[in-house]
Amino acid sequence: MPRSTTRYPNADSLIDAARNFRRHHLGNERAAQWENERQVPLEALQLAAGHGFTGIEVPLAHGGLDLGYRAKLRLVEELSRTCMAFAFSLVNTHNVAAKIAHHGSSTQVEKYLPELLTGKRIGATALTEPGTGSDLSAIATSARRVDSGWLLNGEKAWITNATVADLLLVYAQTEPNLGARGIACFIVDARRRGFDRHSAYSLLGGHAMGVSGFRLHDYHVDDSDLLYPSGSAFKSALNSINGARTYVAAMCCGMLYTGLELALEYGSQRRTFGQLLSSRQGLNWLLADVATDYEAARALTERATVKIEAGKDAVLAAAHAKKFATRIAVTRLADCIQAMGANGLRDDIPLGRHLACAKIAHFVDGTTEIQNERIAAALHDTYRPL
Ligand SMILES: Cc1cc2nc3c(=O)[nH]c(=O)nc-3n(C[C@H](O)[C@H](O)[C@H](O)COP(=O)(O)OP(=O)(O)OC[C@H]3O[C@@H](n4cnc5c(N)ncnc54)[C@H](O)[C@@H]3O)c2cc1C
Repeated sequence: MPRSTTRYPNADSLIDAARNFRRHHLGNERAAQWENERQVPLEALQLAAGHGFTGIEVPLAHGGLDLGYRAKLRLVEELSRTCMAFAFSLVNTHNVAAKIAHHGSSTQVEKYLPELLTGKRIGATALTEPGTGSDLSAIATSARRVDSGWLLNGEKAWITNATVADLLLVYAQTEPNLGARGIACFIVDARRRGFDRHSAYSLLGGHAMGVSGFRLHDYHVDDSDLLYPSGSAFKSALNSINGARTYVAAMCCGMLYTGLELALEYGSQRRTFGQLLSSRQGLNWLLADVATDYEAARALTERATVKIEAGKDAVLAAAHAKKFATRIAVTRLADCIQAMGANGLRDDIPLGRHLACAKIAHFVDGTTEIQNERIAAALHDTYRPL
């Protein structure tokens, strides 16, 4: 099974490869085409998997790169400089592979991991439902015990990669009286009977994420496809959420860096009233404010990353990073567009796509308000009188 073990001696070389990949296989033109044609770029996802990008946190023994969380975060930040939607789709498959690699049985690892690592199968993680999003403990998709397995019934909504995924981690309620403790997580093969995919959602942007929903109707899961039993599934979802919030913050930093880069380049070439825009204090101060927010978002993201890497409690650090980075990505990308005049609106530059994805980032892996809930709940303990 080992496939890419010697490809990258360290995370820096992985990021060099990601930069090359971004330049040669993403590129604004392609990303704009995916957006305009509302495509999930399966070929590019497979190519990325071929570079090892779906196995960054997967152990070497299982054919992954074993480069750790920070390498994954840096990879999605780098790819988001051109297309956050692509990076988000990719990391969702990666996360399914990593969960199976670290928590799956040997049968699950053998059966599912190779095809996730080669990009032959696309993964998705499905918690959200038409009736509940922020309150995950309220999911209504049911899992009923039957001989040698479970019958799943219900509907999932707003799932990244749902239009193309063939391997999904589905969270379902085994015992409604138990609330969050009754939730279990099952590996669902979308090619089997009882799985009905909905068509792609039409959104503000981010169509390369392939967001949609699906219905399960008496879908039979064998016992061997239970990934997390009730009691541990909800905890495991919460454990991974701080990492997800922090890499979403990093993705916003990646998009904003591109905004700054493009606005500075425009200002150094464009003349108004006989002078270069880059000589105008008004514009430079605006971009200086963008740079300060960018640096602050990176610093918060770094603080959360250090805690996650050290296995420390990262709830607050991740909440601060995600709340701040997603907020400033929207306002400061708009400032970068403003600094480029009408040209900032063209779709041969990525800022319009980035702005839409920055807004989307406010919702994925917990909304801004949910980050505030976490921060507010800890205010008195965190900021005691000195
Ligand atoms: C592009 C995209 C991709 C996604 N991908 C996935 C995926 O792969 N898998 C998955 O399971 N889900 C996914 N989601 C769903 C996402 O996790 C939910 O949208 C999110 O959890 C919020 O749920 P909701 O949209 O139902 O909002 P609601 O829960 O209906 O909330 C509505 C509003 O009320 C606010 N609110 C809720 N509770 C409180 C409170 N206690 N106090 C104050 N304000 C509150 C919310 O912040 C929000 O502003 C995705 C969403 C998007 C947009």
